[in-house]
Amino acid sequence: MAGDIDIPSNGWFVLTNARVHLSVAPGLTGPADTDGFVLADIAVADGRITGVAARNGKPVPPRSIDLKGRIVLPCFVDCHTHIDKGHIWPRMPNPDGTFMGALDAVGSDRLVRWSERDVERRMDFSLRSAYAHGTRALRTHLDSIAPQDSISWPVFETMRERWKGRIELQAACLVGIEGVREKAWFTTLADRVARSGGVLGAVTYMVPDLDELLDFVFALAIERGLDLDFHADETDEVGAVSLRRIAEAALRHRFEGKILVGHCCSLARQPDKAVHETLDLVARAGLAVVSLPMCNLYLQDRRGDRTTPRWRGVTLLHELKDRGVPVAVASDNTRDPFYAYGDLDMLEVYRMATRILHFDHPVADWPRTVGATPAAVMRLDDPAELGAGSPADFVIFRGRSWTELLSRPESDRIVVRAGQAIERVLPDYAELDELMR
Ligand SMILES: [Zn+2]
Repeated sequence: MAGDIDIPSNGWFVLTNARVHLSVAPGLTGPADTDGFVLADIAVADGRITGVAARNGKPVPPRSIDLKGRIVLPCFVDCHTHIDKGHIWPRMPNPDGTFMGALDAVGSDRLVRWSERDVERRMDFSLRSAYAHGTRALRTHLDSIAPQDSISWPVFETMRERWKGRIELQAACLVGIEGVREKAWFTTLADRVARSGGVLGAVTYMVPDLDELLDFVFALAIERGLDLDFHADETDEVGAVSLRRIAEAALRHRFEGKILVGHCCSLARQPDKAVHETLDLVARAGLAVVSLPMCNLYLQDRRGDRTTPRWRGVTLLHELKDRGVPVAVASDNTRDPFYAYGDLDMLEVYRMATRILHFDHPVADWPRTVGATPAAVMRLDDPAELGAGSPADFVIFRGRSWTELLSRPESDRIVVRAGQAIERVLPDYAELDELMR
């Protein structure tokens, strides 16, 4: 708890002098400070927000809780994670910090260690962390190469049920696009995904038959009414243009579902003309793009000869947003061979994104990348904004400005869910020791 703030347990209260960013509170009007914040009152009754109104020198409501200018943000939405892989680092580190090193390490760990119990324990650990940090919805990819699909999907369904009301969970299958060549098997996987209410996903590589394989993925998704989620171009290779191929496939199939594409790192390495053509196609096709700044910074441009990395690894998020493409940032991997660190803390992701991707000068509506935009891509019922009628799901920070908020870890933030301050307990790493032997 942040010391002097005490949220009443009956779920009825008014927060006064809260700093609310205009980009996350559509009903709120100014005047805003230079950071885009408005000093506001947030009224909560029966677990829901009943009003967000600018302070404007009005009399302070009786029995209100004075936040003295602290920032309040909606609870976070993390739209790209891998909680099936999370926390295996102590038993299976990445030998050299490269993408190939990660792929091989995870592959061998999965084969021998990913039992139902192992996956469940690590998933639960990850979700407890995410919840304590203020996340309310999360999409995970699930390694779905056989026989892992028959282990991880049932565990995921159990976790989704267990976490209902705390974290809304979604899953997308993860298979290399070459796996789609096994058409009968991939069709069975698509059926499983559909039965589980999941999202159809794949990792695209520049294989010769990429368009044909994408056509098959899109056809299965259309037949089953599934949304799509791709890992694309997680590389510095200029010739990696699968983002464009996905956009072309979406247009070819007149796809009407949601498509989220992650990474798209190579876009930042390509010549301007090619970039502009791809951006136009992505916008026309209605794709959404999620950048994974921490994982990209870790894996990309690692040259293997102990030289200094020279680019940041992230995709062209500003240019995509300028074209009207919905853009998000997310956690990606946590303490596994793809990323040695991380704790599913979306404030950390936003802080790192601000530095790596320049979410500043101006801050504009970048705060939507960790809430409202991924909520729409994930089709959540709640828009992850601060507005009348929304569930009272928000985080109260110490910081009163972006420079205060993004300079400290905010370990004593207050997470309010349905109008109640939750008990924020991060799980102890020692809990996982027995799985690491
Ligand atoms: Zn990923």
